[in-house]
Amino acid sequence: MSTRERVAVIGAGIVGLAHAWSAAERGRSVTVFERHHFASGASIRNFGMVWPIGQPHGELYQMALASRERWLQLEREAGIAVNPCGSIHLAHHPDEWQVLQQFAALSSSLKVACQLLNPNEIHQQTPAANSTGLLGGLLSPSELCVNPREAVRSLPRWLEERHHVRFYFNSRIVSLDQISKNHAGTTGYAIDVKTACGRRFEFDRVIICCGAELMSLYPLILQASGLVRCKLQMLSLRPDNPHWRQGPLLASGLTLRHYRIFEVCPSLNDVRQRIAADFPELNQYGIHVMAAQNNHGDVILGDSHEYGDDIDPFDKSLIENLILRELSKVFCLPPGQIHQRWHGIYAKHPTLPVFEATPIPDVHLFTGTGGAGMTMAFGLAEQFWNRFDNRSGLAS
Ligand SMILES: Cc1cc2nc3c(=O)[nH]c(=O)nc-3n(C[C@H](O)[C@H](O)[C@H](O)COP(=O)(O)OP(=O)(O)OC[C@H]3O[C@@H](n4cnc5c(N)ncnc54)[C@H](O)[C@@H]3O)c2cc1C
Repeated sequence: MSTRERVAVIGAGIVGLAHAWSAAERGRSVTVFERHHFASGASIRNFGMVWPIGQPHGELYQMALASRERWLQLEREAGIAVNPCGSIHLAHHPDEWQVLQQFAALSSSLKVACQLLNPNEIHQQTPAANSTGLLGGLLSPSELCVNPREAVRSLPRWLEERHHVRFYFNSRIVSLDQISKNHAGTTGYAIDVKTACGRRFEFDRVIICCGAELMSLYPLILQASGLVRCKLQMLSLRPDNPHWRQGPLLASGLTLRHYRIFEVCPSLNDVRQRIAADFPELNQYGIHVMAAQNNHGDVILGDSHEYGDDIDPFDKSLIENLILRELSKVFCLPPGQIHQRWHGIYAKHPTLPVFEATPIPDVHLFTGTGGAGMTMAFGLAEQFWNRFDNRSGLAS
């Protein structure tokens, strides 16, 4: 590029940071605006699971693997803690075990690396599987565990130092306007970006990564997009024994209903029908259970899914009790204290991995990664900038 394109990214969650990184690597001059003192949305409230095994096989699974490589690059270059611990889905019911066996049989044709484990093999991998009724598990080596609170706090520093990205925190963007510019006899356009405090900046391109905030910039487009908001309740357990180690990330048979990759398995219907008939309360609150141990030993547990704009600011003890009940059926968690409880909100599109729109020329909306933003953000951002540069004839 002869003159460096000036790019603004709005939102310093994982999606905004991913765009800032990809754009800066491609030679753009990048500035990030975040309305809070530091990003405090879904990107710091999640499990920290980089979870390719949750993506449908094919293009999205491959993109999740590409994202995984970016996380490993960050570990090497930015010193961000990344644990390549893999994952195990546990089966405590015959229909769940059927699904895992069907999936393993198809896995090489689906190009998904995984293997079945018997209960003994599971116990060699983790002390956290409840052996009562345990039939087997599916080990996948591809999953990573990161600490989202630390990663999303330290990435801006690294982007600043390594890639000269500028950050403006406490800076809510309230409007974007296309303005025409006359320069050396030619007319061009720029985007006038205004903060809530009235500061103005000029950019050539703007990427809006506003997460679940659908009512602030371009609310009509976002409201008409099909995006839905979802509230999730979470817990963190601090084991009494600081040396206790979970090993791989863990998911339960209930989780099989949640991720599309298992839709290729005929027995998934049996799991769904059984849960709907025997445990309708789990469907009502979208409960399935997972566990991830972070780099400080805390075990992050969850979760539930309540969809709709009417987000209750207060968490429900009913939901927490259901999560704890289901956790105790499948996991054998160490003695310790539930030392934190919180909820997170994400925006999700019913069919797309991310919602993209161009409300005015050179302004791009990019949100709606649902429950997979930690897994997909880097791959999606790379795909966007590759596509964009190819279209503009800028690919090197
Ligand atoms: C409880 C929970 C568990 C999850 N677990 C996982 C997991 O284990 N693995 C996984 O892959 N995904 C997981 N997810 C999903 C993942 O966290 C999200 O997909 C991802 O964090 C979304 O990132 P984002 O950058 O789009 O949104 P956010 O993190 O919400 O960031 C958006 C940012 O934009 C800022 N902003 C908005 N409007 C403006 C404005 N006008 N001006 C300036 N700033 C603005 C906000 O302040 C915010 O910081 C989970 C989500 C939740 C809630």
